[in-house]
Amino acid sequence: MTAPATKPISPAARDHIEPDAPLFDPVAFRLGAEQAAIMARARHLGQTVFAGRAAAYDRDARFPVENYKDLHQAGLLGIAIPKSLGGLGADYQTYALTAAEIGRYCGATALTWNMHVCSTLWSGPLADDLEMDDATRAEHERRRAVHYKRIIEDGAIYSQPFSEGGAAAAGGVAFGTEAKPVKGGWIVNGKKIFASLSGHADYYGVLCTELAEGAKASRRNTLYLAIAAKSEGVSVVGDWDPLGMRGTVSRTLIFKDVFVPEDGALMPRGVYFKAASSWPHMFLTLSPTYIGLAQAAYDFTVRYLRGEVPGTPPVKRRMYPTKQIAVAQMHIKLEQTKAIWFQAVTEAGPNPTKAQVLRAYAAQYSAMEGANEIATLAIRTCGGQAMLKSLPLERIYRDSRCGSLMLPWTAELCLDRIGREALYEPGESDE
Ligand SMILES: Cc1cc2nc3c(=O)[nH]c(=O)nc-3n(C[C@H](O)[C@H](O)[C@H](O)COP(=O)(O)OP(=O)(O)OC[C@H]3O[C@@H](n4cnc5c(N)ncnc54)[C@H](O)[C@@H]3O)c2cc1C
Repeated sequence: MTAPATKPISPAARDHIEPDAPLFDPVAFRLGAEQAAIMARARHLGQTVFAGRAAAYDRDARFPVENYKDLHQAGLLGIAIPKSLGGLGADYQTYALTAAEIGRYCGATALTWNMHVCSTLWSGPLADDLEMDDATRAEHERRRAVHYKRIIEDGAIYSQPFSEGGAAAAGGVAFGTEAKPVKGGWIVNGKKIFASLSGHADYYGVLCTELAEGAKASRRNTLYLAIAAKSEGVSVVGDWDPLGMRGTVSRTLIFKDVFVPEDGALMPRGVYFKAASSWPHMFLTLSPTYIGLAQAAYDFTVRYLRGEVPGTPPVKRRMYPTKQIAVAQMHIKLEQTKAIWFQAVTEAGPNPTKAQVLRAYAAQYSAMEGANEIATLAIRTCGGQAMLKSLPLERIYRDSRCGSLMLPWTAELCLDRIGREALYEPGESDE
């Protein structure tokens, strides 16, 4: 059961903690031993270390620097990097299940770790599924090895600042951040808002539009470039004092005439556009964090009603039928959410069927809205003493509210797409 730790646990005490049950039981969900071991590694770290640090990161809106050192040491910064290059070689499903485990203990760590891991997942297993000629693939493999080496050897952290405040992050128009081709690379100019890990990532994985002098911006010319945080012309501006996910430190990034060498490309020309159109589950990767938060809200409630939350009086509240009904409702919601989400992350791959795409939207919607619905019920059911800042529930509640806002698959946009794509086949209109 998710540990409601609010204080760091001493290393000596860690070995005596009863381990939480896996979010997805490996036998019941037919997972492999290697997958289960990676998930267990993350769960152990989350339960024994991250849970105790989460309150301070949240209170101070501070990036979880210490957690990232631990993630590096545990090999988890390289979870999706091929084994041949020193990583754990995890596939999409394994990554998603592992991220959900981390989300149970620290939402901000899980969400920012998602941005980091996606830099390797998208340039790795996902890019392997996309068409490229031999020369382009060889060049891509050479370049990505440079990025992976930094991560494995130096613990380099990558982020994914895409949002600009306009329609680009929703996939509607070309990114306003521009990359002008020059000898040996590009000159980048632009601004990214809500850039999680700003000031803490070593490389910002920026989506921008390659634009030669006088050319017209097109989404087809989207480039995915890793820009070194230390490059001249990169600055972090603005405050960060949000409702939830405070440890993500999602401030504003400015790029002013930043030179990015060719090896900065995380994908070859044209490949991001192909990925976005043929591998849509790439946008479902923000959801695992919220599956973890949903489980954490439920686990807290059960423990609290049983009078078993450390640091609180051992008062049982489980005998009231209203509490039992609320827990039943939470349980049903949690099981439904986990079931559709597990199915969607399991079928992620290139060229999914229409049914699979609709299911992915539905899974994203269910995870993002479901986590907050479960946390809301948890607060109502546990009562006033449970929502004090000395306990993790109110943080889980605030963090869970943020999931629906994540572009390009916000809860609203998922509804839009499901409705439209269920009723219209491509090219159909009522004109
Ligand atoms: C904690 C947190 C961390 C984040 N981290 C990152 C990050 O690391 N990288 C990153 O790139 N972004 C990040 N984001 C940003 C996020 O993905 C969104 O871009 C951001 O929340 C959008 O805010 P906005 O007010 O600009 O949205 P707006 O563009 O004003 O949109 C508001 C709402 O309108 C709807 N909408 C938007 N466009 C359309 C459309 N074309 N059609 C119909 N409806 C539409 C959507 O539902 C959206 O939620 C983060 C956000 C949060 C809350």
